[in-house]
Amino acid sequence: MIRKNRLIKGLFFLLISMILFGFNGDAKPDLRNIIIISVDTLRADHLSCYGYPLETSPAVDAFARDGVLFTNCYALTPLTTPSFGTMLTSLPPFKHGAKRNGLSLYRKVKTLPYYLKRLGYRTAAFVSNWPLRKKLCGFHKDFDAYYQVFTKKRWLGILNSEGEAPEVTQKAITWLKKNRERRFFLWVLYTEPHGPYILHKNFTFDYSRVPPSTYPPGTKMKRIKRYDSEIAFTDHYIGKLIEKIKQLGLYRNSLIVFTGDHWESFGEHNYSRHGRRLYNSTLHVPLIIKLPGNRLKNTVRHENASILDIGPTIFSTLNFPGSFPMDGINLFNRDSSMLNREILLEAYGGTVHLRRKDKKYHMKVKPIRYAILDGSVKMIYNLKSNSFEAYDIKSDPFETINIFYKFLTSAGDLKQVLLGKVDEVKKYIKLNLNLRFREAVLSKDDIERLKSLGYMD
Ligand SMILES: [Zn+2]
Repeated sequence: MIRKNRLIKGLFFLLISMILFGFNGDAKPDLRNIIIISVDTLRADHLSCYGYPLETSPAVDAFARDGVLFTNCYALTPLTTPSFGTMLTSLPPFKHGAKRNGLSLYRKVKTLPYYLKRLGYRTAAFVSNWPLRKKLCGFHKDFDAYYQVFTKKRWLGILNSEGEAPEVTQKAITWLKKNRERRFFLWVLYTEPHGPYILHKNFTFDYSRVPPSTYPPGTKMKRIKRYDSEIAFTDHYIGKLIEKIKQLGLYRNSLIVFTGDHWESFGEHNYSRHGRRLYNSTLHVPLIIKLPGNRLKNTVRHENASILDIGPTIFSTLNFPGSFPMDGINLFNRDSSMLNREILLEAYGGTVHLRRKDKKYHMKVKPIRYAILDGSVKMIYNLKSNSFEAYDIKSDPFETINIFYKFLTSAGDLKQVLLGKVDEVKKYIKLNLNLRFREAVLSKDDIERLKSLGYMD
């Protein structure tokens, strides 16, 4: 009799759930989980949903139709550790401290998982790029679980400095199955589009009909084909991850963010790879936010956004109580004037820092360029040559025409704003010279693997 009553009760709740949330809806609507899916070195302009003429990203395109796609989102700096450091702290690199790969977050800096844990979230990360090893970046400090997936055999099969998408996906799915009943924050990082690239035979494209204007002047096409193949391969596994999130009933009510840490330059501006320049070719990242209940689905927004804004947007959207010391803004703020702010961009010199015995090595990593983004105008300041460039990135997205001198005659005060911000950064650094950093341990093995990723000369 008791079993029969339980069965009737169970069927009743199942029926109510189906009516309220649909047959594919979430079993636990109160669990508004947070998931960040990110891809290392992903150029937004190579995704179909960002206008690329080849179908490199069917899974991400489908996901974008459920969310809000930001066409103009920027990393603050074009390098893995500092950029993901900004995503996790909502602070610029000069404040969170991990300004280059191989540097760690300052000890006092708090991360999204730090706050979310206190709000009752279980927090987990799956990272697949060697600079994000615990001992190097210190990102793990506030996660309940920080999984390092390094399976890819590169460089004659000797080094495994990256994780592969199938493994990353499988491990994340296993974790999701175990934690589906809990409130959680999950960050998954794919690394395939990071060089060196592999051509996946089931993911190739016909370039004969791609208009040449798709690519910036100076682009080296040889690398593009392998790079696109890596994107399509990753997209396939992102599709599998999202499919499983749906099957587990965790999709509709979760807040899911899709983004990247930086772009890759393919020869434009006489520069390949990423790390030291502040052109769009290494800074313009994808950002798609799927809100709980798929609110605002299939929306496109053109205001300037940055990965600095991911934290405040999550916290405001989910109405978390309290205030959080973050520098970004809520991208869904009703006061749209908030979006008209200047965004400061930073680039630092040197490769992975080796002088670990020097307790102040963080401070010895020097900025080489700053830039400011104000509306459609970007101004870059090269500290070494003490020179400036400016571009109208709306009419000239590949930044081919330097309008600095023309621009100065009409609205020269942006240069003063930029120099004022640089002064503020210098003052902040001076005041915080004694910030405690986490000791990052860099072994010989780390050095070899980072070399294989092109991070060391
Ligand atoms: Zn990266």
